[in-house]
Amino acid sequence: MADRLFDMVVLGAGSGGYAAALRGAQLGLDVALIEADKVGGTCLHRGCIPTKAMLHSAEVADEVRNASHVGIQAELTGIDMEQVNNFKKGVIDRLYKGLSGLVSARGVELINGHGRLIGPGAVEVAGQRVEGRNVLVATGSYARSIPGLNIEGRVITSDQALTMDWIPQNAIVLGGGVIGLEFASMWRSFGANVTVVEGLPSLAPNEDPAICKALERVFRRRGIAFKTGAMVKDVSQNADQATLQLDSGESLSGDVVLVAVGRGPNTAGLGYEEVGLKMDRGFVLTDDQLRTGIPGIWAAGDIVPGLQLAHRGFAQGIAVAERIAGINVPGLIEANIPRVTYCEPEIASVGLSEPAAKELHGADAIETIEYNLAGNGRSQVLGTQGFVKLVRVAGGPVVGMHMIGTRIGELVGAAQLIVSWEAHPEDVAELIHAHPTQSEAIGEAFLDLAGKPLHAHP
Ligand SMILES: Cc1cc2nc3c(=O)[nH]c(=O)nc-3n(C[C@H](O)[C@H](O)[C@H](O)COP(=O)(O)OP(=O)(O)OC[C@H]3O[C@@H](n4cnc5c(N)ncnc54)[C@H](O)[C@@H]3O)c2cc1C
Repeated sequence: MADRLFDMVVLGAGSGGYAAALRGAQLGLDVALIEADKVGGTCLHRGCIPTKAMLHSAEVADEVRNASHVGIQAELTGIDMEQVNNFKKGVIDRLYKGLSGLVSARGVELINGHGRLIGPGAVEVAGQRVEGRNVLVATGSYARSIPGLNIEGRVITSDQALTMDWIPQNAIVLGGGVIGLEFASMWRSFGANVTVVEGLPSLAPNEDPAICKALERVFRRRGIAFKTGAMVKDVSQNADQATLQLDSGESLSGDVVLVAVGRGPNTAGLGYEEVGLKMDRGFVLTDDQLRTGIPGIWAAGDIVPGLQLAHRGFAQGIAVAERIAGINVPGLIEANIPRVTYCEPEIASVGLSEPAAKELHGADAIETIEYNLAGNGRSQVLGTQGFVKLVRVAGGPVVGMHMIGTRIGELVGAAQLIVSWEAHPEDVAELIHAHPTQSEAIGEAFLDLAGKPLHAHP
């Protein structure tokens, strides 16, 4: 390997790394992809895909539970966790097979082993030196805990939660962000009593305040308990349960405590500091082109500060490969990266929240409108409540879209086009949305903002 000089050596084959490798190979680069575990990384094996498979099982459980309401005689007699896990594994296995095939078909040199950066153009893997004109570090992230809280026994992270073959009777979820909300929703659908504990004042604290309120309303109705503005003082456990002591003096016990308080960058001990990469609390700092400042070393994915999302990793990886191949690619606009939380109801958003837009443009310059899904036929068929909220600069483009409702995540693509193209309400209001689809709610919201609402009460 030492006598072969690759155009690009990629350390880590998660969303960021494998996307860079595939795009690089497509552009004719000679690429080495180093992976300690399995191609696909967190997203495929411990993140996006397994959670969404399990959330689908959870959705089916809810549908069966409510079947008689729509005239179908069915009874939910139990949840077979072994089969839930088999279903999830089947989805992962098929995608993993496809991805592995792609990597080999594109001629990417896949090197299995734990790599360490040893110089600007060099990575060491199991005593071998792998050299490249460029190195992309994309080593991903791990589930973080809070100081003094050890992950063991009944205190778990999403990694262990995804391998459980039983359903907790009482689950405590520490953290009301994306991962915490998805597990809370799933366990509730599987029949667990769930309490979410969040330190900030609302669930989904990164979303627009109107979304947070709507989510909390539905969670209450679903019987998902939550405590916001609640800080954890101590956690203890015995053979039967784990107990959380809150600052308020209150204590909560469950047969499992899921710690979902964010993800830390996986960068320790990989030679990054030694080679001179600029770091901040373990994250690798880059410019907007993902250059680290050390010539020939780039970074992508969860180790770069910002939204920790798979599609951000894909986009960054592709952009790095294209830049290495000499293509001029603009930097990503973080706010325009679409965000979906796949709990029930789903949350989808892109662009600025109302408070963020007011801070940027001034309170008087911002107009908002909410279109309630009560007027949307498809949403009524699905039995969902929710809304589409638009945030617009007065007389100017829409800078934020925020949506909540069953299956609303599928609309995020349209929202992203609208916000990224800086569309004005009049541009979208004249487009025709198929009836009856949930996408009509977007059309209606824009009709309203353009001053000609159809199915909306004044
Ligand atoms: C429970 C959960 C649910 C999620 N759901 C979603 C979702 O629905 N949508 C979404 O967009 N995002 C979701 N994410 C986030 C998403 O998984 C990450 O943003 C994404 O995987 C980051 O990609 P990455 O390439 O930066 O890192 P990773 O996917 O973590 O990949 C890094 C890879 O590097 C390898 N590696 C690390 N160190 C070394 C080394 N020294 N040598 C060799 N290999 C190494 C690792 O084995 C790993 O395969 C979820 C995450 C979790 C945990």
